[in-house]
Amino acid sequence: METSSAAAFAQAQQLIPGGVNSPARAFGAVGGGPRFIDRGAGARLYDIDGEEYIDYVCSWGPLIFGHAHPRVVAAVQDACARGTSFGAPTPVETDLAARIAAMVPAVEMVRMVNSGTEATMSAVRLARGHTGRDKIIKFEGCWHGHGDSFLIKAGSSALTLGAPDSPGIPQGVADSTLTVAYNDADAVRTTARDNSGQIAAIIVEPVAGNMGTVLPRAGFLQALRQIADEEDIVLIFDEVITGFRVGPGGAQAHYGIEPDLTCLGKIVGGGLPAAAYGGKREIMQNVSPLGVKVSQAGTLSGNPLAMAAGLAQLEMLGEPGVYESLEATSAALAEGMAENLRRLDLKYAINRVGGMMCMFFTEREVVDFASVGTVDLERFNCYFWAMLERGIYLAPSQYECMFPSVVHGDAEVEETLRSHYEALKAVH
Ligand SMILES: *Cc1c(COP(=O)(O)O)cnc(C)c1O
Repeated sequence: METSSAAAFAQAQQLIPGGVNSPARAFGAVGGGPRFIDRGAGARLYDIDGEEYIDYVCSWGPLIFGHAHPRVVAAVQDACARGTSFGAPTPVETDLAARIAAMVPAVEMVRMVNSGTEATMSAVRLARGHTGRDKIIKFEGCWHGHGDSFLIKAGSSALTLGAPDSPGIPQGVADSTLTVAYNDADAVRTTARDNSGQIAAIIVEPVAGNMGTVLPRAGFLQALRQIADEEDIVLIFDEVITGFRVGPGGAQAHYGIEPDLTCLGKIVGGGLPAAAYGGKREIMQNVSPLGVKVSQAGTLSGNPLAMAAGLAQLEMLGEPGVYESLEATSAALAEGMAENLRRLDLKYAINRVGGMMCMFFTEREVVDFASVGTVDLERFNCYFWAMLERGIYLAPSQYECMFPSVVHGDAEVEETLRSHYEALKAVH
């Protein structure tokens, strides 16, 4: 019998490319159709077929307090009743900016935008405007949204010119993006020296969260800071995932390394479309209408509904015990999963820091894109469906993180670990 989700998907495909407004939602990697969602409540998600799931996607990261948290809902309703948008400044924008600056060590000034993509694109433009240079260094397997400069893969060597990853990207843009392997500080050093005086920015996910979860090796972020200092390069941390998820001050506070610019998104918008980029006053003062007037604008930027939702979440994140609770839940999940693997005599890698984690279907240590490439994708896909059947909603791809929220409690952890054991057993 055809489900309502299947019917909705068929209909959507007639009108929306692939039936979705962001490709990962299509379940293409795991084969099969997506669940269409009716509503969410706390840690749980309900599809239009009436199925209930424990949600570990959490809108791909933003929902650190789960779905429809009463305080976020109230903040949005209150803002909404006073008008949805003005195209003129509102005090809540400064309130959120102040919160961000108080929480994130390397942010003195911040500009609000509407998506993580906008944040990274704007940060790179600013770095280019500030330095008067064109090239950037990025890392293989890191995702910075869909800006032209980021959809570039390196060839076999870090020094080959990039080739576009997608049709529609001019070769000229590709030529300015140099890609090196994650965690390979020597390759960054060589690339920076070979292109001395030409590199505007190094952009990195300080914990990579778009090839599963890949942690920075000890000293890696420090080396980036040092190379950037030596070569007068702007160091950009893309903390769109890690910001407020690995700790209140993001990865930069967790690892004690300060970038020049920081990109935020996801959690900062409280589940509404908001993101931000910020950093040292000296650099941020080049953004239009100030300084050298690096252009960047937005009709809905700093939208009062999105600001209210983001502010509500950041305020709650400032309350005592919240990060301890997220850490306890995440640790219990990771440790329980490791215990399940031992019981089944499996040796898969689990990477975790704070509230982001990934179980990789490989026995190799996962430290970069090449080691991620050793995963058994077919096995992951079977596991994904086995979990979904048991009511656990994971991201439909091995290259994504599991995102527990603060409202995932003992009951959810227990149910998840039981399903995890059963699902692994079923697929081996
Ligand atoms: C999600 C993400 C982005 C892009 O954010 P959007 O809001 O989807 O445009 C950029 N960087 C990282 C690290 C992300 O995870």
